[in-house]
Amino acid sequence: MGVFGNIFERKLCDICGKECNIFGGTKLKDGRLCKECVNKLSPRLENLKHLTVDDIRDHLAYREENEEKVKNFNVTHVIGGKGTKLYLDIEKKELIISNENNWRNTNPDVLNFSQIVGNDVDIKENRTELKTKDENGKEVSFDPKQYKYSYNFYIYLDVNTPWFNSIPIKVNGYTVEGFDSYDYDTCYLQTQEMCEILDLLKDDQLDVVDEAIEYYKELENSPRKKYNKTYYANSKRYSRSSDYYEKKDPRKNHYKF
Ligand SMILES: [Zn+2]
Repeated sequence: MGVFGNIFERKLCDICGKECNIFGGTKLKDGRLCKECVNKLSPRLENLKHLTVDDIRDHLAYREENEEKVKNFNVTHVIGGKGTKLYLDIEKKELIISNENNWRNTNPDVLNFSQIVGNDVDIKENRTELKTKDENGKEVSFDPKQYKYSYNFYIYLDVNTPWFNSIPIKVNGYTVEGFDSYDYDTCYLQTQEMCEILDLLKDDQLDVVDEAIEYYKELENSPRKKYNKTYYANSKRYSRSSDYYEKKDPRKNHYKF
C-alpha cells in the first residue's frame, strides 16, 4: 500500500451503509449521510452538523409517518397566488405549505394547526437607479435622481415542531415591478389573506375560514391600482390592526397625502 492508500476509499453512510460521494457525503455530528438519505430529510431541517446519527434515525421515522399523512391529506382549501400556497385539510386540522404543483410527490411536511406559533409579514423593496447619457455618451444620473422599484412578498411563519421552527413563505411568483400596479396590490392582498388565515388557524377560529377566503377572493378579483390614505380602513381584517399592515407596506413611502 502506498502513501495514497486510503484516499480513494469511499466512506460509508451511517444510515444505509451505501458509499458516500468522493467528498465523504454530508457530515453529521458523529457520522455521515449519503445523498440518497439526505434526499429523504425534510428540506426545512437545518444544521445537520449538529445532529447525531440517532437524531437522523428519529427524523427518518417522522418522515415516513409524514408520507402517510400526505397520502391521506384531503385538500379542503387552497390559499395563495403564483408563489407559495397553503393547502388545508380542515377536518384533520392539517396544513401543507408548498410552492410545487406536484407537492404530493415531494413529501412536504404536514403541520397540525396547533403547531402554528405566529407569523410576520416582510415586503422587500429593491431600488435600482435609472441612468441616462450625457452629450458625450457617458452614463449619468437624472436630476433629480430616478429609480425603478421591485418587490418580493414574504411571510415568516413560526412553528413548533421537533425538527424546525420557522418557515419562510414567498407569496409572489415572479418579482413584482413597481408599486402602483394591479400586480402589487394582488400580491399584497394575497399576503394579507395568508397572514390572517394563518392567525385564524392558530386561534382555532375555523368557522371563519370560509368567510375570510370568500372575502379576500372578492378583493383579489378587483385589485386597486391606486393606493390612498383610506386603503387600510377600507378593508376588513380578522385578527390584525390596520396599523400593522400599514407599517409593513412600503407603498406608503411613495405617496404624499
Ligand atoms: Zn444512506
